Amino acid sequence: MASDPPVPPLAQQLFGTPEPWFSQGLRFRCTQCGNCCTGEPGYVWVNQQEVEQIAQHLGVSPEEVRRRYTRRVGRRRSLVEFPNGDCVFLDPQSRRCKIYPVRPRQCRSWPFWISNLRTPEDWQRTCQQCPGCGQGELVPLEEILQQAAMIRI
Ligand code: SF4
Ligand code: SF4
Repeated sequence: MASDPPVPPLAQQLFGTPEPWFSQGLRFRCTQCGNCCTGEPGYVWVNQQEVEQIAQHLGVSPEEVRRRYTRRVGRRRSLVEFPNGDCVFLDPQSRRCKIYPVRPRQCRSWPFWISNLRTPEDWQRTCQQCPGCGQGELVPLEEILQQAAMIRI
């Protein structure tokens, strides 16, 4: 009986090489500046499970979360924003996330998105948007890969 083909290592799956350019790790420590929760219009993707977790956290129904805090984009769903670009869950006073313990995968995995890691130039561009990038402790390769695999962005 034929056996399943071996699953390639995560780095190979995500970046097409077992040794991506950031194999020695990357530095990151969030300064809590809030830049990644505001700015130009964009998308914060949420799936069904995330909608349910947010609903439970807020003590409302998933339907209410969908109606008040999200919008459809094709077949997917994104959080909505205030007119100034702030995420709907960014507290205007404290500038903190109101759903931090259940924030979506896209927020959890920032800044280690595939699109931010393809090349050193992509990472440099990310560092210009996020003052925590390139600072603080070295995040090891395995942890970076786990975060990059959370959602394909
Ligand atoms: S932009 Fe970077 S440093 Fe600022 S809150 Fe977001 S992750 Fe933290
Ligand atoms: S859900 Fe929270 S962490 Fe994610 S963009 Fe909105 S305010 Fe920021």
